[in-house]
Amino acid sequence: MSVPEPYLGNPQKTIEILQKYKFVFQKRYGQNFLIDPHVLQKIIRSAKVTKEDFVMEIGPGIGTMTQYLAAAAREVVAVEIDKALIPILEDTLEGFENVTVLNEDILKVDIPRLAEERNAGRPIKVVANLPYYITTPIIMGLFENGVPLESLTIMVQKEVAERMKVGPGTKDYGALSLAIQYYARPELMANVPPNCFMPRPKVGSAVIQLIRHENPPVEVKNEALMFRMIRASFNQRRKTLLNSLTNATDLPFTKEELTIALEKLGWPVNIRGEALTLEEFAQLSNLLV
Ligand code: SAM
Repeated sequence: MSVPEPYLGNPQKTIEILQKYKFVFQKRYGQNFLIDPHVLQKIIRSAKVTKEDFVMEIGPGIGTMTQYLAAAAREVVAVEIDKALIPILEDTLEGFENVTVLNEDILKVDIPRLAEERNAGRPIKVVANLPYYITTPIIMGLFENGVPLESLTIMVQKEVAERMKVGPGTKDYGALSLAIQYYARPELMANVPPNCFMPRPKVGSAVIQLIRHENPPVEVKNEALMFRMIRASFNQRRKTLLNSLTNATDLPFTKEELTIALEKLGWPVNIRGEALTLEEFAQLSNLLV
């Protein structure tokens, strides 16, 4: 893969650009820029980007990964919230004809429309070194809002990557694990230490790939209901499933209805939500729909 100058994926080039524009890192935007070419190549290879692909990058920063993506993809749209980065991106992405930078908050972008306009509604690839303060809303927004998705190849906090992969019986198991497993197959691509970023984050990171399932692994009559039940169960982790679901204001069930459902399924009435698999949450919600 050839990336024309200015090639940014190393500490010297990054510092040069930051100094040229007197850029000040904004902690509130989760800005940790990648400065390791091996990690960048690993991400691009994992994402299997080809000249057929439309890629959306979330948070291009100074454009380090965007250059690689532009060299590999047919078209790239990069969404960056920080307006101080826009003149920098104009500079670093000059000459890349297939890149558009949008100065917007990713949580407010109409991504299905973008996919419709730029990729004829076909599934898109998302590649990003995500801002960690909004990892979950970004991922859940992509899955829940009808974005046509092929895959997400994303850098996240190591701990979040763990949470996506685990099942019942582990402390990391939660609503995110279940949602990810319902929508996609998660695969860990690489662990990335803090020294691959500038400034260094306090936590370890990991590249994870989520390949969207063609069909969800379980049959659910009412997805929204199942996810309300999942969220309620993990909001009050130490409570029994029965109490968590009865207390949830966005669920209409009485204690009696829930007790009958648990009995029908042959589950103990004191079972906790954290003991249930995705399949079991599907069974319970299908019974109550
Ligand atoms: N991609 C760059 C890299 O790898 O060096 C930067 C990654 S940095 C972890 C996250 C980027 O996301 C920053 O550039 C930050 O300004 C941007 N960002 C933060 N919140 C955002 C939001 N709500 N919408 C779009 N971009 C956001």
